[in-house]
Amino acid sequence: MTTPPAPAQRFLAPARPISPGLTVRRALPVAARRQVGAWTFLDHIGPVPAQAPPLAVGEHPHIGLQTATWLFEGEILHRDGLGTEQPIRPGQLNLMTAGRGIAHTEEGQPGALHGVQFWIALPAAQEAMEPAFEHHAELPSGGGPGFRAIVFIGEGFGLRSPARVHSPLVGAELLTEGAARLPLRPDFEHALLLVEGEATLSDGPLRVGELLYLPPGREALGLEGAARLVLIGGEPLPEPRVLWWNFVARSWEEIEAARADWEARRTRFSPVEGGPGHRLNAPELPG
Ligand code: MN
Repeated sequence: MTTPPAPAQRFLAPARPISPGLTVRRALPVAARRQVGAWTFLDHIGPVPAQAPPLAVGEHPHIGLQTATWLFEGEILHRDGLGTEQPIRPGQLNLMTAGRGIAHTEEGQPGALHGVQFWIALPAAQEAMEPAFEHHAELPSGGGPGFRAIVFIGEGFGLRSPARVHSPLVGAELLTEGAARLPLRPDFEHALLLVEGEATLSDGPLRVGELLYLPPGREALGLEGAARLVLIGGEPLPEPRVLWWNFVARSWEEIEAARADWEARRTRFSPVEGGPGHRLNAPELPG
């Protein structure tokens, strides 16, 4: 006899502006769910129609995390303070490790855009590591009952991404057809985002813009329909993270120090050459 897994929870992702004329659905963090494993942030970008103004995110800093960008349509040009200038297209991964600090810019190209961007909290031992950037054009794909998967980060479905991560996790794009059964790691918590199409679970259909959270203890998830989804999962973090503006840390002191360094243009954040030409100012700290 086995204990049934804890019930799934659904959270609606609110719309948030990220660039002039462009809103995203922020699926993580939401009020009732701050993290899924080390995953602390998930923006669903678009689908943005071709006639919309291209994404233009000015120079801004990060600490304590990795940003992962994954597109379904369109192109984004990434530049950072390491001198990286890297376009990303569908099926490719951009992974920027902020560590102790990095600044970057992101520019969409003319045309439609559809994708996701994640933040992954670094473990305490790596949060002050040197910043780094990786681009992966080739990522492993495979499948199982009723689904195809591309594992862009971590390990899952018998596939392993070459991207360098610092804790056990999985990030995958899934294409389902008919009745799918997704094997899951019971030591991970997971979340599933419907990107497009139709996906029905045992308790009803999933809506676009809805994040399905699956507590640890689950060995599989059954769903029905033709859909494109994103699955993330990982071991629950031993310590919760403070997330403020573009910073992830374990204490407010680290956040305040990073904000002060950014505002004073200290060397922690090497400047980005080129890009859309504007620099984002940090908001005021909460009182
Ligand atoms: Mn960023």
